[in-house]
Amino acid sequence: MDATTGRTGASRRDRDAETLDQLGEFVAIDRVTRGLTMSSAVSVGPGDDGAVFLINGSAVVSTDLLVEGVHFKTEWSDPHSIGRKAVAVNVADLEAMGASPVSMVLALAAPGDTAAQWLREFSTGVREEADRAGICLVGGDTTRARDISICVTVVGQTEGRSPVLRSGARPGQVVAVKGRLGWAAAGLAVLARGFRAPRAAVESQRCPQVPYGAGRQAALAGATAMLDVSDGLLADLGHIADASDVVIDIDRARLDIPDPVMAVASATGKDPMVFVLTGGEDHALAACFEPGTVPDDWQVLGRVRGREADEAPRVLVDGLPWQGSQGWDHFH
Ligand code: ADP
Ligand code: MG
Repeated sequence: MDATTGRTGASRRDRDAETLDQLGEFVAIDRVTRGLTMSSAVSVGPGDDGAVFLINGSAVVSTDLLVEGVHFKTEWSDPHSIGRKAVAVNVADLEAMGASPVSMVLALAAPGDTAAQWLREFSTGVREEADRAGICLVGGDTTRARDISICVTVVGQTEGRSPVLRSGARPGQVVAVKGRLGWAAAGLAVLARGFRAPRAAVESQRCPQVPYGAGRQAALAGATAMLDVSDGLLADLGHIADASDVVIDIDRARLDIPDPVMAVASATGKDPMVFVLTGGEDHALAACFEPGTVPDDWQVLGRVRGREADEAPRVLVDGLPWQGSQGWDHFH
C-alpha cells in the first residue's frame, strides 16, 4: 500500500524488478493468457492465429483505445484498475446496444522497461472485470511502444432481439438511467488537486462500475434508444436527440446527488449538479422507454418530445438550455 496515494499496485517502472524486455514477448503473452477460462461458446481461445466462438443472433462489435496520459495516468491508476477499466468501458458499449457480451481481444503496447509485476496486476484486473461482465478473453496482440496503450475489441450477441440504437427515441417516451452519474468526474477533480478522497469517487475514476446486464434488461423491457454515458449525461443524450430528431428534457429534481459527489462539490466550491449532468466516464446506461415500461431499478430523469418546426434537436434541463459545457470532447 502506498501511503500517499492510498492505492496498492506495482509502479510501471521499478529499477530492480523483472521487466517485459527480460520476459520477452512470448512469456509475456503466456502470463496474460495462461489458465484463462472460456465459456462454452468459445471453441478456440488464445494460442492460434484466430479465435473461434459461436454467436446467438447478430454480432455486435465495438472497440476502445486507452492511451497512457490521455485516458489514464500511471501515477493515479494502479495496473489492476487500468486492466479492469479497459474491459469495463468496452463492455459498456455492448450493453448500450442491448447486447450480451461474448468475447474480447486485447492488444497491449508497452515500453520494454515496464515491470513484469505491472503486467501481472494489469492482467489480473482484466480477468476479474471480464468475469464480472461475463465475457471471455479469446486473443490479442502484444508489442513494444514508447507509452502504454491498450486496445480492447469486444463482441456481443443480440440473441434474436433488435439492437437498441441511438436513433429510436420517440416523442412521449421517458428517459431513464441505470448506473452512476458524476462519480468519476468528482474523482478526477480530487485527483487533479492531489487528494485521494472521497475514496468511492476516486475508485470510480480509476474504474467505472458498469451496470452489467442492464443493457439486455432494457432491451427486453422494450427500450427503443440507448447509449452509455461516457462523455456526460447532457452531451450523450444530445447524441440520442440528434439521431432521433427529438428534444429531451431532463428534470433536475429527479437527479440524486450522490454523497461522494456532494462532498467533492463542497470541498471544491463547485455545483454538484455540474458533475451529475456533465461528468463523463461513469458509463451508466441511458435509455428511452414508453411510460410505464421502465424497469424498477432504473431511474426516470425526464422525457422525450417532438421538436418545434424552428427548433433543433437538443437536450434541455427543466425546459431550458443548459448554460456551460455539456461534457467532455477529446478535440476541444
Ligand atoms: P500472431 O503472430 O498470429 O499475431 P501472436 O504471437 O501475436 O500471434 O499471439 C499468439 C497468440 O497469443 C494469439 O492467439 C493471440 O491471440 C494471443 N495473444 C497475444 N497477445 C495477447 C494479449 N495481449 N491478450 C490475449 N491474447 C493475446
Ligand atoms: Mg500478433
